Amino acid sequence: MTEGDARRWHPETLAVRAGYDPASGANAAKPPIYMTSTFAYASARQAKDIHQAYFDGTGPEVGHAAHIYSRLGHPNLDMVEARLAALDGAEAAAAFNSGMATHSAIALAHLRPGDAMVFSRPIYGGTNGLYTQLMPALGVGHAEFVDGCDRADVEAAVDAASRQGPVKLIVVESPANPTAAIVDIAMVVAVADALGTKTGTRPLVVVDNTLLGPFMQRPIALGADLCMTSLTKYCGGHSDLLAGGVSGREALIQPLRLLRTTLGSHLDPYTSWLLLRSMETVHLRVERAMDNARAVATFLRDHAKVAKVTYLGFLAEGTPQRAVYDRQCGAAGSTFSFDLVGGEAEAFRFLDRLELLRFAVSLGGSETLITHPATTTHYAISPDERIAGGITDATLRLSVGIEHIDDLIGDLRQALNAV
Ligand SMILES: *Cc1c(COP(=O)(O)O)cnc(C)c1O
Repeated sequence: MTEGDARRWHPETLAVRAGYDPASGANAAKPPIYMTSTFAYASARQAKDIHQAYFDGTGPEVGHAAHIYSRLGHPNLDMVEARLAALDGAEAAAAFNSGMATHSAIALAHLRPGDAMVFSRPIYGGTNGLYTQLMPALGVGHAEFVDGCDRADVEAAVDAASRQGPVKLIVVESPANPTAAIVDIAMVVAVADALGTKTGTRPLVVVDNTLLGPFMQRPIALGADLCMTSLTKYCGGHSDLLAGGVSGREALIQPLRLLRTTLGSHLDPYTSWLLLRSMETVHLRVERAMDNARAVATFLRDHAKVAKVTYLGFLAEGTPQRAVYDRQCGAAGSTFSFDLVGGEAEAFRFLDRLELLRFAVSLGGSETLITHPATTTHYAISPDERIAGGITDATLRLSVGIEHIDDLIGDLRQALNAV
């Protein structure tokens, strides 16, 4: 595939075609799995040239995709990375063995003792742990903002972080998990630019795009430096693998690949192959899941035992969140939360009555999953912070799948009747 094709083709076409050239794999129409830990050199000279290309980015082997050892890179990883970069509209991408391995590599690549960073709240529990526990133990300060549509709130967090050290990263999760809080990505980029002009150090803006994914939100086009995605979720799409990826300019991605070599967090050949296969159909699964999610959200909103539904498609006209949503998001996604009338007891009774919906953490699979964030995904977060982030004892999170809508609503209705 030439670069001209990549620019001309639509994302749906790139999802099927980008990243694999049959000429590279004995003309197999679909990608072989390269189950090998190491690669044979053609000659001593070529071995030296391959190492020069890998470590210095110079010499005759640059651009030849030769490999050394699978922890450093392998053909199936190259395919996933090329496809992810194409879908995200980025120059390059790096894939890891989980979303958290991706977040950790970004943090370790860009933060040093004495630096500071800013993140949006609520944020995924693992990301929260990375920036409130591990990174502070390594001497990295942090500050948070809650209203990602209010520039003053974001600037206040940047000021608070600046008092702890030079701000090197701003990490944004939008929409946030599980409350669907929205951050204005272009506004955060403008705040980063302003800080760069003022201090000479411009923080990188990293967007966790897991909740909407490449077909519904394009952070790179909005000015973000790095677009991070837990590929475990919608891109993997079947709740049967763990993977993560990050896309952006080649100059920002290459250091992450080198760090991955040190951390040993590459994505293995078989999982890369599975993921490449799933990426071909992600838009079809997501479209059906979103149709189902709208119907489920509407059913819940109108039910007497439901106090609140935080579905993006219901954002009120005239609010700042709605304005940002209209500018930034292609659609409402299929993960949202709702509050039952009552508290933990009502939530537990409801969960234990469900027959079809699976009670499990994670999201973005073909099957509908439901969780009780306060006692599972957000267990480790203090009650004050949790409630400030909109997660009460009666909050349930749904990741709506691709089952028949009547079966989903039927199960929700019978379980609500039992509360
Ligand atoms: C799941 C998730 C992650 C972490 O990804 P893993 O693949 O589980 O490591 C990060 N961010 C968000 C928003 C997630 O939902």
